[in-house]
Amino acid sequence: MLDGKKALITGASRGIGRAIAIKFAEHGAFVGINYFKSHEKAKEVLKEVKKYSDGILLPADVGKFNETRKIVEEFVNVAERIDVLVNNAGIYKRSKFEETDEKQWDEIIETNLKSCYNMCKNALPYMKEGSKIIFISSQLAFRGSSHGADYAASKAGILGLMRSLAIELAERKINVNAVAPGTIDTDIIANYTEEQRRKRIEEIPLKRLGMPEDVANVCLFLASNLADYVTGEVILVTGGLYIG
Ligand code: NAD
Repeated sequence: MLDGKKALITGASRGIGRAIAIKFAEHGAFVGINYFKSHEKAKEVLKEVKKYSDGILLPADVGKFNETRKIVEEFVNVAERIDVLVNNAGIYKRSKFEETDEKQWDEIIETNLKSCYNMCKNALPYMKEGSKIIFISSQLAFRGSSHGADYAASKAGILGLMRSLAIELAERKINVNAVAPGTIDTDIIANYTEEQRRKRIEEIPLKRLGMPEDVANVCLFLASNLADYVTGEVILVTGGLYIG
């Protein structure tokens, strides 16, 4: 589905980003694997990617504009262009609004939202007609969060950016969409107690947590030509949380 495509994925050393990188490689894409600090884990992802296709490692803090410019240039030097950009990197800190400080607000917004600005701004000059941009938002963009106002705000902000770019880039035939995962079983929820996991599963109509591959499958569709007439949309991958 992605034969010959060049895809850059942020935060791809583990979790959802890792699954997207491997899925895209399985379908023929050359993959740029951005990661922040986990060099060894990123190397393992590249090893997996090389079973199917090829790719490169792109270390950077995507919250920093100059670092994103550097990895975009590194990627384009090898791959010539960017056909698919997946803005996946993100952090979550479980805490009540009244317990958090300005430093945490800035860190969450910089990592989750400003990173999307940084990547799009630097990547767009290298994106041609038919290219795709995918954002990883969250169900919390819709319902808010009692323990993550900063996170929910960053993920809702992503949707505003996504819709605006979808309108603006339509004339360049660049599709821009978002995926909003529910609760996906990755390190981001590693601190859940058994009781919290059980309660969460109980709330989900499909009666299981999502797996990174569930999100990667939807990203594969949005990255492919099958989604050429889809833009400005959010696809919820929540196991049915919003039914009824
Ligand atoms: P994760 O913690 O396993 O992965 C996050 C990735 O982002 C890691 O590879 C991490 O190194 C990277 N990252 C963090 N800060 C970075 C930075 N400054 N620069 C570059 N990379 C950075 O979590 P995940 O569940 O795989 O999350 C992936 C995305 O999905 C995030 O945006 C997250 O908000 C979103 N999401 C996850 C869930 C869930 O339940 N797991 C639900 C909704 C949305």
